[in-house]
Amino acid sequence: MKRFKNLFSKSLSTQLKVTSSNGFHLRPVARFTTLAKAFGCDVTATFKGKTVDAKKVNSLLSLSLEKNDTFILTTQGKEAQKALIALQTLFETLMQDDVEISTIEKETANYEGETLEGDIIAKGVGIAPASVYKTETLQHKNTLTFQDAVDKTINALEKMYDTQKKSNNADIYLAQKELLAALGEKCDTIEELESLIEKESHKLQGTKLSAKITDYQDILQQVKTALGLEVKVMFPQDDFILLADDLLPSEIALLSDTQVQGVVLKETSINSHTAILLRASSIPSLIADTSQIPLSSDIILDSIAGAVVLHPSSDDMQKAKALQEQNKKDKAHAASKRFDHAQTTQGKTIKVYANVGDVLSAKVAKEEGAEGIGLLRSEFLFKSTKPSLETQTKAYAEIFDTFEDVTVRTLDVGGDKALPYINIPLEDNPFLGVRGVRLFRTHPEILAEQLHAIFLASQGKKVKVMFPMVSTVEEFNKAKIFAKEVAQKHNIDISHIDFGIMIEVPSTLFLISAFNEVVDFYSIGTNDLTQYLFAIERTHPLLKADALSPVVFLALESVVKQATKPVSICGELAANTDAIEKLVNLGLETLSVSPKSIAQTKETIRHV
Ligand code: PEP
Ligand code: MG
Repeated sequence: MKRFKNLFSKSLSTQLKVTSSNGFHLRPVARFTTLAKAFGCDVTATFKGKTVDAKKVNSLLSLSLEKNDTFILTTQGKEAQKALIALQTLFETLMQDDVEISTIEKETANYEGETLEGDIIAKGVGIAPASVYKTETLQHKNTLTFQDAVDKTINALEKMYDTQKKSNNADIYLAQKELLAALGEKCDTIEELESLIEKESHKLQGTKLSAKITDYQDILQQVKTALGLEVKVMFPQDDFILLADDLLPSEIALLSDTQVQGVVLKETSINSHTAILLRASSIPSLIADTSQIPLSSDIILDSIAGAVVLHPSSDDMQKAKALQEQNKKDKAHAASKRFDHAQTTQGKTIKVYANVGDVLSAKVAKEEGAEGIGLLRSEFLFKSTKPSLETQTKAYAEIFDTFEDVTVRTLDVGGDKALPYINIPLEDNPFLGVRGVRLFRTHPEILAEQLHAIFLASQGKKVKVMFPMVSTVEEFNKAKIFAKEVAQKHNIDISHIDFGIMIEVPSTLFLISAFNEVVDFYSIGTNDLTQYLFAIERTHPLLKADALSPVVFLALESVVKQATKPVSICGELAANTDAIEKLVNLGLETLSVSPKSIAQTKETIRHV
């Protein structure tokens, strides 16, 4: 049968461009291969003349795809078309969602003792003697074959993935599982696995993916443990600051049962899986040259300032203890007050809403203390296949049930966000092309169905509908008339629905008095507005617009001054602790931020 496959099966291809500055790295690759494996067809990726199996993590990783690289994805055989569309969509979502950290800003600190500088992994303050990472190898009785041990480890990783699915860290376990599945297939003994891993690690050395070497080591260790060869990490009984070249991601979980006060690693990177898990565990940690750190007496790890105080004076110790206390209190305080309103010192209440992308994040936002949804990015519903009216209605209804005040933004594709069933011809400047509200012109049927679903779900509820990328009053008017026609056609009363616009195209800054006549509200999208004010593409690898530029604040001020309808802000600037005071002083009364920023945003407002 196989022989005839190519004769009868179609081969389909598409070009995919890596847009994340982190490249196409292990976690997104693992998500990609997991989906690829769900299809019966062959899936390959071709880059610089090399074609690899795109169902295998290590093969796909071997292409070392970096930002701006374009590769060809090919599907062939049963479900080729379905697979191509689904994978293309997933890839684009993965690229968009792949926000990794470049650096964490340091605060200044003055210590008397000699300090060693480092890069911050996770902020906090730890005081304790330093202790060097040590292990002990234990040989237990083994009853498993090599293949059983691989399967056992894969199952354990899958279980971890399932239980952590709601957190951002779950993909780490999926990535390790996929990696092991791909490597395990090629080996029959632990020795073969070890030598393969050594070879793979060697290839990664010095590349952008070198931080993934620990993932290879981690899975090797886990299989060895399953075979009875346990490498046990020895931790001190009392408080300690752990010094190591690097840690395996799986070792971070072990730290939670110890008295660890901080971690200094010599060789990890800020986006390694180890670093991500350290941040998730809130363990103060730093990347620094551990060989310079003295052992035995107390040191200070001030990872807020990005420093290790090697020989602290008694004043330094006092300072660090006070900082530690303050830090703990601030965090606990902000978290404990996350459900309270945020009131400035002058008694003005500022509403803190959430920007969410799906039903789950709306639920998380509720838990984090959001008072409403300032921006529902409805793109989440529009994936590889067009969602049905019922699916859309159900999702909106669930979110409307969670919050009383929800602003739904109509589909904002185009620019850097593509959908397989929305055919926007290739554009030279997609950020200046068909995107946002301009889709009303090119794809009315999709918008009509979306509005129908929103209206059905909103019955009896106070819902706001917001159009993205509006640049003229006519555009808004046409979109609103279109919406009304949809309601009329389906006989739905929408008199309770407000219609507004995102302020994100600079032309709107000069049209506020005219918009005042027709819109019910404004929401300022500083992400795009800043991009368009400075003519710098949001995803550009080299150019970066200054989010805190006075130009941005002048733009905001002019909107707030002229607007006679409520104005909120939903761009990233709303959660920037260096901007909040200015935003409040400009007169903005609703800040919409990502769910994880709610407690901190409220607390910052309380100090304005
Ligand atoms: C914005 O542009 O500021 C915004 C909130 O929208 P998005 O980031 O989804 O484009
Ligand atoms: Mg925008």
